[in-house]
Amino acid sequence: MEFVLLSVAYLVASILFILSLRGLSSQSTARRGNLYGMIGMAVAVGATATASAIDQYPLMIGALVVGGGVGALMAARVAMTAMPELVALLHSFVGAAAVLVGWSLYLDAAGHAGGRTILLIEIAVDVVIGAITFTGSVVAFLKLKGKLSGKPLLLPGRHGLNLAAVLSIVALTVIYVQAEGTDGAWAMGLATAIAGALGVHLVVAIGGADMPVVVSMLNSYSGWTAAAAGFMLHNNLLIVTGALVGSSGAILSYIMCKAMNRSIWNVIFGGFGAEPKQAAPGQAAQPEGEIQEIDVESLAEELRDAKEVVIVPGYGMAVARAQHAVHQLTDSLRGHGARVRFGIHPVAGRLPGHMNVLLAEADVPYDIVLEMDEINDDLGDTDVVLVIGANDIVNPGALDDESSPIYGMPVLEVWHARRTVMFKRSRSAGYAGVDNPLFYKDNNRMFFGDAKDSVSALLAALA
Ligand code: NDP
Repeated sequence: MEFVLLSVAYLVASILFILSLRGLSSQSTARRGNLYGMIGMAVAVGATATASAIDQYPLMIGALVVGGGVGALMAARVAMTAMPELVALLHSFVGAAAVLVGWSLYLDAAGHAGGRTILLIEIAVDVVIGAITFTGSVVAFLKLKGKLSGKPLLLPGRHGLNLAAVLSIVALTVIYVQAEGTDGAWAMGLATAIAGALGVHLVVAIGGADMPVVVSMLNSYSGWTAAAAGFMLHNNLLIVTGALVGSSGAILSYIMCKAMNRSIWNVIFGGFGAEPKQAAPGQAAQPEGEIQEIDVESLAEELRDAKEVVIVPGYGMAVARAQHAVHQLTDSLRGHGARVRFGIHPVAGRLPGHMNVLLAEADVPYDIVLEMDEINDDLGDTDVVLVIGANDIVNPGALDDESSPIYGMPVLEVWHARRTVMFKRSRSAGYAGVDNPLFYKDNNRMFFGDAKDSVSALLAALA
């Protein structure tokens, strides 16, 4: 009876997780999607906790309180701009948990005689992917936090090293599966260590500008780890949830690779976007020309006459928390008779969908928020593009400067508009550390200052 109830609860949780993912695919249903996910998780944890196989309640409750408390505190404190770091850290926990669960099950199963082979293989898969996820995520976290250099570290013959690591892991797994009792623990330990080193090597080889895809790929790995743990623990819900996370993470990575014009195979094998012909961050060609500034009155004057306005938000809008002011600006410009639309680059900000979340929070209508591919062709017929705290995603060098670390990434081609205005505080570079030739274009003007202050000043001038 208990088994039936548990299975029904797991089925309900699985359906809620699927509905959650479906909801998250569009801004208008994202809140509902999150709610489904939370209910699904409550059902899953509740059902598991009340199963009769659980007999260590004090330990479990203690772990739930400590883990839940730390998680809640971190989530409440984290700034929206630091979200990718937090996500990377959380993936590392999934990896570490998989390694620990795998090892404890191995030590437990060592005493059993028959039927061990399949279990030992499941444990090996779980521990190896878990170790890669753990160390890879820690390196991604350190890179995103700026504690490790964003420059790709390219060891000579790195693909050969990766291959050798994978082959050694396979050989060690064969040894450990065939060993008696815990005699193979050394092989398993060595395989875990090599997998950990592989995780570090795969991620250090990737340049800072390409970290978004890495984080999403690690998300996928953490899902596959959970699925492997599900097989190992005979837990169907873990298998389903892990497969959902694994496949949705892989799809997201693929979409992001397409958006950044990178090869998915290179993300998986490490060192993509870092071929020798490319320069390290900051070494792109130096743009020529003069930077021209604009004052608030002149900008307001131009905007009063504009019929087509496109706003391109970026990371700086998030830092300045300018999204509400930007919404007011949209209303004001519409009041002056302009059609206002937003152009969103797939990797604007610091996490996928970052700008969409902020604009939704500020109640900007969804129907005027367009993706890069939907708006790029219209930019030539646009009177004014307001680039608010964005930089790399509007860098023309991504299209024509082969020495640029972001070469090949499709960008919002705002320079085709009659006028572009960049709202930022200084002449400094964006995330990828490269100079932006847009600053120096004839039709571009710089409007220096904190994005929120600048937008507020513009609103006052337009009133
Ligand atoms: P960028 O980091 O390229 O540029 C942001 C600009 O905002 C900076 O040049 C900065 O200039 C300006 N800025 C910062 N604070 C403020 C402020 N308070 N007011 C006004 N301006 C401000 O961001 P983009 O969104 O253009 O591009 C995203 C970059 O991040 C890409 O390189 C992408 O690969 C990378 N990335 C994306 C992730 C994702 O999933 N979306 C994840 C990780 C990285 P200044 O200091 O002069 O003000």
